Amino acid sequence: MPNMLESNPPRSRETAGGTANYPALAGAQRARVAIVGGGFTGLSTALHLAEAGDDVAVLEARQPGWGASGRNGGQVNPGLKYDPDTIEAMFGPELGPRMIDFSYGAPDFTFGLIKRLSIACEARQNGTIRAAIRPKPEAAARTTAAQCVRRGMPVEMLDAQSMAVRTGTDRYISGMFDARGGDLHPLKYTLGLAAAAQGAGARLFGGSDVLSLKREAGRWVLKTANGSVSAEKVLVATNGYTGALWPGLEQSLVPVFSAIAATEPLSPTVAGAILPERPVLYEAGNITVYYRIDAENRLLMGGRGPMKPIGDASAIRYLTDYALRLWPALAGTRWTHAWNGRVAITKDHLLHIHEPEDGVMICLGYNGRGVAMASAMGAALAQRLRGNETSPFPMPISPLQPIRFHRFWPLGVKAAILSGRLKDRFGL
Ligand SMILES: Cc1cc2nc3c(=O)[nH]c(=O)nc-3n(C[C@H](O)[C@H](O)[C@H](O)COP(=O)(O)OP(=O)(O)OC[C@H]3O[C@@H](n4cnc5c(N)ncnc54)[C@H](O)[C@@H]3O)c2cc1C
Repeated sequence: MPNMLESNPPRSRETAGGTANYPALAGAQRARVAIVGGGFTGLSTALHLAEAGDDVAVLEARQPGWGASGRNGGQVNPGLKYDPDTIEAMFGPELGPRMIDFSYGAPDFTFGLIKRLSIACEARQNGTIRAAIRPKPEAAARTTAAQCVRRGMPVEMLDAQSMAVRTGTDRYISGMFDARGGDLHPLKYTLGLAAAAQGAGARLFGGSDVLSLKREAGRWVLKTANGSVSAEKVLVATNGYTGALWPGLEQSLVPVFSAIAATEPLSPTVAGAILPERPVLYEAGNITVYYRIDAENRLLMGGRGPMKPIGDASAIRYLTDYALRLWPALAGTRWTHAWNGRVAITKDHLLHIHEPEDGVMICLGYNGRGVAMASAMGAALAQRLRGNETSPFPMPISPLQPIRFHRFWPLGVKAAILSGRLKDRFGL
């Protein structure tokens, strides 16, 4: 695991009614499947494996939900980074449509799972808005919308006037609305998934940093400070917190910090004027800004932040200043919480699934869009780990490829963020 300084606890930790407290792995244990990482990917896979009667152990360095899954923006968004036509051109007429169906269907899968398991996590399916400030992102959103509509998806373009009504600001020239999106309380959802996985028979361990993963006598042995698990199959689900566990894996992605500031609960009048129908929104711009109003009427404003843990909202002034510019009625509102966490960016901006050796699967690189995708991937990964896939795997399985000149990437990312921020500030 890489150096993970504890960042400011996310607001979700305070409002989830406690955190998980699973015991640390002790002694030598056996499982058919061992999973490294207790976020959406690891927990959803564990849940689906256990529900199918499989013997599974989850090893989490901190506690389930400590990583991005318990501290994200809670936006349940459909689709991938690329437009459907591009996906089909890149991956062909068989895999392409599977990827499209799977990724655009991921929010329905997630809301369905929450309902089936009765997880109380403030889930609402009120849609996602991709908002455009300038003509270039507007044209791009129109292209995406046309391709989605052609495929019968519940997507529509909103003009400047309806954007003003739906957002409470006149900042946007247009937006793309996708009715399948929505929001949830990320830590409540993660803890609910963990409890459901355990209830179905999965063994969950916290405080269990996997220090090594080695082949011994035909099985995979995962070692922590105080114990080990010998398993037939392993899933590595460590996303932005990936360390040196598997050779070259850390170098196949760039962990980028995303940051969020939350206000105190807003008055009904102010809260009622911002996103009154309670969709979630992200801006299609040089740097992504995303926001929503949560179930307590707090505004959660997210975007790129410093590449290190942050203490309070003053570290992301550009976001809180921007919120004030969008809704001047926020003047005087207190920003009570701020935190950040790591998203995993891949070079091709696609999720990566690898099978580098017999019995080892790796799934990571959600590029900041893992709430729905990682939930849905859990079911697909579980089927593959059981060797009883009822349908072809929904995403490409690719060779593990470290990024060339990886150690210079953080600088490149920083430069891109800074230039994006300047461009946004000056309206370029
Ligand atoms: C601030 C922020 C906002 C975001 N907003 C959104 C959003 O609104 N919508 C959206 O779709 N996505 C969002 N994302 C991305 C989303 O949260 C992630 O894509 C998703 O949670 C990934 O889940 P995961 O299970 O793959 O990884 P994580 O939840 O990050 O879990 C990985 C876990 O692996 C553990 N680990 C690492 N190494 C080891 C080891 N050696 N041994 C044991 N355990 C280990 C870590 O402790 C960690 O808990 C956001 C992310 C952040 C950080």
